[in-house]
Amino acid sequence: EVETPVTTAVGPGGTSSVKISNRTRVIFPEGKLTKGELADYYEAVADIMLPWAGSRPISLVRCPQGRDKKCFFQKHDAGSFGDSVKQVGILEKDGHEEPYLFIDTAAGLLTCVQMGTIEFHGWGARIEDVEKPDRLVFDLDPDEGLEFKDVASAAFHLRDVLGQMGLVTFPMVTGGKGVHVIAPLTPAAEWPQVKDFAHRFAMALAQADPDRFTAALAKAKRTGKIFIDYLRNQRGATAVMPYSARSRPFAPIAVPLTWDELRVLDSAAHWHIGDAAKMVKRAGSKNLAHWGRADQILPDL
Ligand code: ATP
Ligand code: MN
Ligand code: MN
Repeated sequence: EVETPVTTAVGPGGTSSVKISNRTRVIFPEGKLTKGELADYYEAVADIMLPWAGSRPISLVRCPQGRDKKCFFQKHDAGSFGDSVKQVGILEKDGHEEPYLFIDTAAGLLTCVQMGTIEFHGWGARIEDVEKPDRLVFDLDPDEGLEFKDVASAAFHLRDVLGQMGLVTFPMVTGGKGVHVIAPLTPAAEWPQVKDFAHRFAMALAQADPDRFTAALAKAKRTGKIFIDYLRNQRGATAVMPYSARSRPFAPIAVPLTWDELRVLDSAAHWHIGDAAKMVKRAGSKNLAHWGRADQILPDL
């Protein structure tokens, strides 16, 4: 099968016109959802996705032949994505610089989709200063057997405790099993301090309520509990981006939401790539327009 060449152009309005090849290829066998449908989804949500997902180092989950075939996690590229997928040099531990990918336009987003990307994951820092995180994220991972209402009520508990410390937080359902509780940060503290805060916060919650929470990495210690995955807060770690599709059955999406919406939601995978218009409408609503925005720094712990 021959891939048609990719032509990328950014129109006068900044809108993308990226040629998507093999539009009819089935990427999600469950529901028979195609590459074309995935591209249409991303085209529709580009403007609401890029304010958060843009201009930060990203990792891609690429499944060129479909989610049920070989997939890979990719954070570097030698240039096969063309100019709309940009690169930022980041210093590695050994002192040399590695180019990491980032996007800041719909054309960049769609080019990744053309190259077989399903999921977009991002660093917790912007390219302007990759050493200073612009968010804290607590990735709540429920053990098998727990219900969504358990993870939702855990998210409310984190909201309350972080709120008492002066941090405003926003929830996001991942499209998988869990909820991410996100505190935007004005970049100031560096990674070691942010990770230390997240680690100590997670341990304190687990200590206070050991039947419900664990901060232990060992899977055996998670039985019946919610794992507070604080490790999304270390340098180089990524978390799934708002509005990313997931390479899971029926193409669910990660969705930022209000605390009121979370209170009545039935599942972390409630929405799917067919819900693009709904997402755009919601994002413009009064309650969601300020999602992920707060001018705040890490409190003492
Ligand atoms: P769920 O709600 O189902 O847990 P999730 O996106 O939070 O969905 P996790 O398994 O908790 O999924 O993964 C947390 C994060 O770890 C992912 O969002 C991703 O950024 C990162 N990650 C996942 N797979 C890889 C991988 N192969 N290499 C590097 N990082 C990964
Ligand atoms: Mn998770
Ligand atoms: Mn996790």
